[in-house]
Amino acid sequence: MNLSLTLRQSAEKFPAVTAIQFQGIEMTYAQLDAAVDAFAAGLHNLGLRKGSKVAILLGNCPQFVIAYYAIARIGAVSVPINPLYTPGELQFILSDAGVEGVVAVAPMGPMFQMMRATLPTLQQVILVGGAHEGAVEFSQVTGNPVDLPAVDVAESDLAVVLYTSGTTGQPKGAMLSHRNLVSNAYQSGTFLGISQSDRVVTVLPMFHVFCMTVALNAPISRGSTLIVFPKFSPTEMAKSVADLQATMFAGVPTMFNFLVQHPEVKPEDLKSLRIAISGGSAMPVAVMEAFERKFGVQVNEGYGLSEASPVVCFNPIDGERKPGTIGLPIIEVDVRLMGEDGVERGVGEVGELICRGPNVMLGYLNRPEETAVTIRDGWLYTGDLATVDEDGYYTIVDRKKDMIINGGFNVYPREVEELLFKHPNVAEAAVVGVPDPEYGEQVRAIVALKEKDATTADELIAFCKEHLAKYKVPHDVILVDELPKNTTGKILRRELKNLDVKTV
Ligand code: AMP
Repeated sequence: MNLSLTLRQSAEKFPAVTAIQFQGIEMTYAQLDAAVDAFAAGLHNLGLRKGSKVAILLGNCPQFVIAYYAIARIGAVSVPINPLYTPGELQFILSDAGVEGVVAVAPMGPMFQMMRATLPTLQQVILVGGAHEGAVEFSQVTGNPVDLPAVDVAESDLAVVLYTSGTTGQPKGAMLSHRNLVSNAYQSGTFLGISQSDRVVTVLPMFHVFCMTVALNAPISRGSTLIVFPKFSPTEMAKSVADLQATMFAGVPTMFNFLVQHPEVKPEDLKSLRIAISGGSAMPVAVMEAFERKFGVQVNEGYGLSEASPVVCFNPIDGERKPGTIGLPIIEVDVRLMGEDGVERGVGEVGELICRGPNVMLGYLNRPEETAVTIRDGWLYTGDLATVDEDGYYTIVDRKKDMIINGGFNVYPREVEELLFKHPNVAEAAVVGVPDPEYGEQVRAIVALKEKDATTADELIAFCKEHLAKYKVPHDVILVDELPKNTTGKILRRELKNLDVKTV
C-alpha cells in the first residue's frame, strides 16, 4: 500500500469532508487529493523520480501535507527536517541523504543558493511563500496529473527518511517504508479509535514522527479533519479547540504542562476533546493528574521511537489505563525485555525494550554497522530500559544512556524527576549525571520553578531526602528559568549535562 493511496481512498470515500483547517482556510479531501496530484505532476516535470530524496523544511501548513503525499505519489522519498536547524546541521543531513530536491520556507532561499556548491546532488529548490534566484515558487510546481506516468510503488519501497531527534549523538536517518508507515497509521488509528468524525489537533511538528503518524497519517487514512497549528501556543490552541470542537489532541508532556499552568486556559476550553494522547517522552504522573483534574479529559500515554514509525505501546482507550506506564503493545507488535546477557527479563525486572512488527524500520541510511547493532534477528533494540507488570503493561524506567551510576548504584533520572514534579512549586525538572572523581557520577537536578525565588535548591534537596534512598538524592539542584528543549518539546539532556553552573 502506497502511503499516498491512503489519502486517495479517503478522498474517494469522503470527498466533501474537510481534511485541513488552517488559519481560517478549509480544504476538503477532494481538494487536497487534487492538489497532491497536481504537485506530484509538477515534481515529475522538475525531473524528480521514484527514489529521489526530497527534503521538506516547513512548519505545519497545508503545503507540508501536499508535498509529503505528492512525494509519496511519485515514489520519491521525503526527508522531513526541522526548519530551525542551523546551516551546519542541515548541510550534514542534506548531504548524508543525498537530497535532489528541497521544499522549504522562503527565507531559506539564499542559504540553499549558497549551499548548492557543496551539495552536488541538489537539483531543485521549491520555496513556500516567496521566490528566490535558483528556486521555484511552490504554486508554480504544478502539472496535469494525466501526464504523470503510473509508478509502481511497492510496500517495501522507501517512503520517508527521518533523522532522529538529535537529543543524543549524531543524527542518523531511519529509513521507513510505505509498509512501515501505513501499518503504524493503521495500528495506532485502530488502537485510538480514530474515525471520520474526529477533529484532530495537529500542533506537534509534522516533521516529527509522532505527529506524522498519530496526527497526520492515521487521521488522513480515516477521513478525519486536521486542525493544523503552525506553532504551539496554549491560549491559541485552547481557543481553537473550543471554537472548532476538536476531539483529539496529541502532544508531548511539556505541552500538557503548559496547558495546565496557563491561567488564561480555562477548564471548559478543552471539554470537546474525547482523548488526549501523550508521547515522545515520559509523562510525569503529577502532570497527567493535574491535566485531568483541570480539564476533565483523560490522558492516554503511549511510547514510540522514529525507528518504529513510531508507535510501539499505548494505554488502551477502552480497557484499563495505568498512569505512569506506556500501556500495552499495539496490535501486530511484539515486545520483550532483554538483559545485557542476552537473557529475557521477566515481570518486575529491568531490561532493554526490544520490539518487532511491520512498523520497524528498514535500517539506518548508509549505516549498515549501526543497523546491525540496532536490529538483531528482526528485533529492534530501542535503547530504552523498561519493566513489565503481571498484566503486560510496560513502564519506561529510562533511556539506557541516561542511567546514572552513582557509587555503583543505578539511578534512573525519571524516578527522581517524577518526585520533583510532585513538589508544588516545581514547573519543570530534569535529572542528569555529572562526572564525579569519587562516585563516578553524581545526581544533578535542573529545575524551573513556578514561582521564582519561593523555593531554594536546599529545600528541594531536603524534599528529595524525605522520599528517596540516599544515593538517588540530587547532590546539587540548579535553578533555571526554563529548561532547554528542542522544537518538539523534548528536553535537551546533552545541553543540561554540559550546563556551566557558574553561568547560571
Ligand atoms: P524519537 O525517535 O525522537 O521519537 O525519540 C524516541 C525516544 O523517546 C524513545 O526511544 C524514548 O527514549 C523516548 N520516549 C518516547 N515516548 C516515551 C514515553 N512515553 N516515556 C518515556 N520515554 C519515551
